[in-house]
Amino acid sequence: MGMNGSTMMNEKLVIKKIADHARRLYGAVEIVSRLSDPDAYHRYTVREMIGRAYALAEALQKLGLRQGERVGTMMWNHYGHLEAYFGIPLSGGVLHTINLRLHPDEIVYIVNHAEDRWLIVDDVLLPLIEPIRERLNVEAIVVFPYTGSPVHPSYVSYETLLATSDGNYREVAWDEYAPLGMCYTSGTTGRPKGVVYSHRAILLHSLVSALPGALDVSDRDTVTPVVPMFHVNAWGLPFTATLLGAKQVYPGAHLSPERLLELYEAEQVTVTAGVPTIWLGILQLLDKHPDRYRIPRMRMIVGGAAAPEGLIRGFDRHGHQVIHAWGMTETAPLGTVSQIKQTLITRSEEERYAWRAKQGYAVPLIDVRIRGPEGVLPWDGKSAGELEIRGPWVTERYFKQDETEAISEDGWFKTGDVATIDAEGYVKITDRIKDLIKSGGEWISSVDLENALMSHPGVLEAAVIAVPHEKWGERPLAVVVKKDGAALTEATLEDFLRERFAKWWLPDAYVFVESIPRTASGKFLKTALRETYKNWYG
Ligand code: AMP
Repeated sequence: MGMNGSTMMNEKLVIKKIADHARRLYGAVEIVSRLSDPDAYHRYTVREMIGRAYALAEALQKLGLRQGERVGTMMWNHYGHLEAYFGIPLSGGVLHTINLRLHPDEIVYIVNHAEDRWLIVDDVLLPLIEPIRERLNVEAIVVFPYTGSPVHPSYVSYETLLATSDGNYREVAWDEYAPLGMCYTSGTTGRPKGVVYSHRAILLHSLVSALPGALDVSDRDTVTPVVPMFHVNAWGLPFTATLLGAKQVYPGAHLSPERLLELYEAEQVTVTAGVPTIWLGILQLLDKHPDRYRIPRMRMIVGGAAAPEGLIRGFDRHGHQVIHAWGMTETAPLGTVSQIKQTLITRSEEERYAWRAKQGYAVPLIDVRIRGPEGVLPWDGKSAGELEIRGPWVTERYFKQDETEAISEDGWFKTGDVATIDAEGYVKITDRIKDLIKSGGEWISSVDLENALMSHPGVLEAAVIAVPHEKWGERPLAVVVKKDGAALTEATLEDFLRERFAKWWLPDAYVFVESIPRTASGKFLKTALRETYKNWYG
């Protein structure tokens, strides 16, 4: 009998459940990846993928991996990364996906902070690693041959590593609360913070994501995650699709609208997922050539930033359904999904679009609430407060931090997003508390840019704000006060910042002003600045 009197088995919710179920039931299902030559596709089956994942697991065990140790990946979306998604946790290790768009200094910080013991890197991404190689405290760098070329002998070849396995995988002493993966978020102030996902969290997240009222994924589908596999596990889709037996199609490094539409057509994709920036480009191309691509009716999961209503209406015109979803690195990520509940399908078209443009209702096992200074606020669609969330795949603290201010006294995660919730349970994000800029799904720190600008000898003070932008969602704008007599131009400041930041971080515009409005406590009044400059980029 169970300890509490139940008579149920104490079965562990771990990655092995996904891998073995998929291999037994969906072994013949295809997995397709676009290689570095966009005309070349790699194809194999779930059976082969899981087989190679076990081989990777065994090879890592032979290298001496101890349970709970991190293995970093720096890879595009393809079968090799999928093998790492399964193989690293099957070895007992922790899959640490690294965002390759970060500044090199940040990559160094993250790899060393996570104490990654090894890295697996795509050969095409070695130019990002080579300049920082000496600063990375890792034992070895394993190179995955994404181009198909032989791996340089100063690195460990991925295929050579796999070949060290001989069918002697050692079963792990499974614990469902043990770590499976980790991902750093830059969506916070200060240094990137590590979020560590347990086996249990990922398994439950996969099950709930697949539900019809959530992302709606099954073996009837062909799924293409465009969202990078280094962004919150590609929203869990590689795990969900494998568990449910959906065919998986990976775009590799080819993310332009033309390449994606080609891929959707060639593989008859039915579910795809990514940030709004990607879909705006695709919609433009479809509007221009409505008959060029023969694509089945797709469900397009849009998240990471708000999906504009025009985007949802636009894809409806082409027979594709946008499903708007909200989540965070800290929530693994699925929190809310905006589908129309059956009780609302008879409402007017206007109302239904308004709901679909909201971030949606909490999925099963997730609780949401909004809170203001006065306490928890009603679900009236008008009261706005900070969105707080609770659930089995929500973070309660960060890696190597005992405590975080992000947890409320009664144990809810404070998202930093400001929202309303209506009587039907639909959350609408209205603002962000943190002064961060989200451009094309990637974070830019306004504070870092401000500090750099204020270190320029001609700058008295500078505030950087997020300004809405049609293509990127938001772009930085710098509001600058010159020192008396300083001869500053936009070009001087841009040159100054270019040495310090990745190119996509640089503000699109610099506005010179006499003074910057401040709050009573002397901080920049960014709400006022955002209001003043909200139409600057169109
Ligand atoms: P990340 O941890 O990088 O995934 O970023 C999470 C943050 O992205 C959230 O806290 C929101 O600010 C923003 N976000 C994610 N999804 C949406 C959405 N559907 N609408 C608006 N903002 C979103």
